[in-house]
Amino acid sequence: MNCQLCQKEMDAYRGGTLPEGIRIQVEAHLESCDACAQMNQLIFLSDKVMDEEKNLQSNPFLVTRIMAGIEDLAPGYESYHPVSVFQKVLKSAIVAVSLAAAIFIGVVAGNLYKPATPVNKIPVEMVYLNDAALESVDLLTN
Ligand SMILES: [Zn+2]
Repeated sequence: MNCQLCQKEMDAYRGGTLPEGIRIQVEAHLESCDACAQMNQLIFLSDKVMDEEKNLQSNPFLVTRIMAGIEDLAPGYESYHPVSVFQKVLKSAIVAVSLAAAIFIGVVAGNLYKPATPVNKIPVEMVYLNDAALESVDLLTN
């Protein structure tokens, strides 16, 4: 028997459902092959752990104790975040005042800015330009 065949039959071997001839071959291989013997031992241990987990009983008082602990914490939790009416009013007042200050500062800064050359004056040459001669309307009609 080779390792592949032995590992294929291992589940049935541990379950005790193998026919007598194959069971003897698997046992002989497990005695001669360290790798398969270790794998068999590992699967045996993992099966044991899973069986132990299935038999674990949950503590019926655990949920009750946790919920009681949460309820004990709840009043203390409230005191960590006291939100009074005064604080709410103060917060919105601070937001409004800072918004107004930002707008005021923006307007003042915009009025303080003076360009180096006056932009409102039209250069003298522009007065003599004939717009109609620059762009003919006839081009657009065709
Ligand atoms: Zn083997």
